[in-house]
Amino acid sequence: MTYIEEVLSKLNTKYFYEKEFLQASKEVLESLKDVVSEHEDFYRKNLILERLTTPDRIISFKVVWKDDKNNFQINNGYRVQFNNCLGPYKGGLRFHPSVNQSILKFLGFEQVFKNALTGLPLGGGKGGSDFDPKGKSDTEIMSFCQAFMSELYKYIGPDIDVPAGDIGVGGKEIGYLFGQYKKLTNSFHGVLTGKGISYSGLLGRKQATGYGLLYITKALLESKNISLKGKTCVVSGAGNVAIYAIEKAQQLGMKVITCSDSNGYIVDENGIDLDLVKKLKEVERKRISEYVKYHPEASYFSGKGVFKVKADIVLPCACQNEFDLEDAKACVNNKVICILEGANMPLTIEAINYIKENGIMYIPGKASNAGGVAASGIEMSQNSYRQSFSFEDVDRQLEVIMRNIFNNISLTANKYNKIDDYMFGANVTGFFKVVEALIEQGI
Ligand code: NDP
Repeated sequence: MTYIEEVLSKLNTKYFYEKEFLQASKEVLESLKDVVSEHEDFYRKNLILERLTTPDRIISFKVVWKDDKNNFQINNGYRVQFNNCLGPYKGGLRFHPSVNQSILKFLGFEQVFKNALTGLPLGGGKGGSDFDPKGKSDTEIMSFCQAFMSELYKYIGPDIDVPAGDIGVGGKEIGYLFGQYKKLTNSFHGVLTGKGISYSGLLGRKQATGYGLLYITKALLESKNISLKGKTCVVSGAGNVAIYAIEKAQQLGMKVITCSDSNGYIVDENGIDLDLVKKLKEVERKRISEYVKYHPEASYFSGKGVFKVKADIVLPCACQNEFDLEDAKACVNNKVICILEGANMPLTIEAINYIKENGIMYIPGKASNAGGVAASGIEMSQNSYRQSFSFEDVDRQLEVIMRNIFNNISLTANKYNKIDDYMFGANVTGFFKVVEALIEQGI
């Protein structure tokens, strides 16, 4: 048995119930086959893969809060501090009923590699709760955030662990979390990113993941002498990542014809009306189905299916495992040029294998959605300097970082004769960086 097979088998036995974490570790470890086999004994002796797949610690706590009817409610809260070899733990908080330890371990594990790719001094972590913000009033959200932070504040700090937003945690939630942290610690510093601009947040952070996704798409297509202008695009989701991916795609001259939420999707062949999506999702927090009330010429379909819509470029920006083998087959039939992940692990392993085998270019989330955490790294610098960077500065830095990521992962892929295998390039580039630091710092 190879070292990788040995570690995967141990993980499968020990964490058989952690489906998403096993999926993420399998995807990464299997792609490291060629590099690990070069120095297998060394890696085995130093337990490198075991150390990479085991979080430094998992903090799990109860969150008790009161709803508007004065009833007590209880949720689970977590912070997975995965690896801080490269810097303070860094990664978002997710509030969604599906949140459990497996999902947060998968996200924390991916985050370690992603943060390494940004070139910034950031370790990897992830956290959140099974709290569902949907349908909750502002006072309920505030009450929950305060209760959540009353426990989490003990474990985080600007040089220890710096959480940000993720699904269900936007500017509003970050504000309530920050307010409570400040109250409990009597200190004002950059312990969270994604903060409001009025209290030391970064101009451009909100846009960064979506914009970054398009900057790397541009870098990829330019490397193949393909222009983005006039290309049609399928985007899934209608949250933070999707909205700003659509915005930048439109600025670059593409036509985005879809967006979605967990109930269904919109197809608008005239191009998505982004102002309307922002109004529905960012301001009114309504369902995406409302879109057709304003645009009766567009169509709403309930359920899955957004990736079957014909377009040149596909950007999944909603959630993990939203894109399966059937979607992959549809994209191959539709002659899609490339698929880049805005969300974390939106493609199943079968879907990835199928599109790669059939010549669709693919960049995994740990490279293509790294713009968000890169901007968070810039926000941390801004807070340490006690200065404010301009939107233009941040946007320029973001584009440079995304181009560097693309160049680095392509170089690594080429070096191992895996031309255009950006998944291999991303995993191996991140792996080398983290492992070097891990070894240099001893056990
Ligand atoms: P939001 O909460 O702002 O939006 C999430 C979107 O995905 C919503 O439209 C939501 O619909 C939809 N969605 C959620 N669950 C499902 C599901 N089971 N099926 C279909 N659609 C679903 O989150 P973000 O935009 O911030 O995050 C989206 C993805 O991007 C996540 O995978 C996140 O981890 C990743 N990401 C986010 C970064 C960021 O900076 N925000 C950085 C890097 C990665 P509904 O409203 O119905 O729930």
